[in-house]
Amino acid sequence: MLPDAITALVAALGRLPGIGPRSAERIALYLVQTDPATVKQLAETILVAREKIIFCDTCGALTEQSPCSICTDARRESSLVCVVERAVDILSIEKAGAYRGKFHVLGGKISPLDGVEPEDLRIAELEKRLKHEPIKEIVIALSTDVEGDATSYYLAKRLARPGLKVSRIAYGLPAGSGLEFADELTLSRALEGRREMN
Ligand SMILES: [Zn+2]
Repeated sequence: MLPDAITALVAALGRLPGIGPRSAERIALYLVQTDPATVKQLAETILVAREKIIFCDTCGALTEQSPCSICTDARRESSLVCVVERAVDILSIEKAGAYRGKFHVLGGKISPLDGVEPEDLRIAELEKRLKHEPIKEIVIALSTDVEGDATSYYLAKRLARPGLKVSRIAYGLPAGSGLEFADELTLSRALEGRREMN
């Protein structure tokens, strides 16, 4: 029914996270009827953002410069590192505003069924940081599902060394979902109520 170019645009938009078929169609129909200069600017903004954004070599955060502004911020506690699954989880914790340490992005959770083994995650990078940074506590902030639990216990065991505390944020995060679904107060409380694992 729709011209091929619109169908292709709907399909492309529909592959974006959080955009269902109806939204994809609505956005596509809006774009093809909008002033071409505005659409060109949007396309360019997407391209520029994609070209500029890289992962911080140290913590794995999204940044324009590596090391990122969190890793280089002298006002943040360098003795405390919060381990999260994905780069976007840093944004959730930063929004909650209750955390003043640094971060480390794992890049996933151990899940043998999906073929994700410990060596696929940024654990060796974290061990390297333990050698070079004055880290005294690792706070694990993974979701409370099976993979999150398994990964947390694996990390607590592998990272165990004298003088290092490994804790995990308190339960209270919605089971089976990531940090982005936790509201700011819940996240702050979960961080405050973290429990030692070793
Ligand atoms: Zn960083």
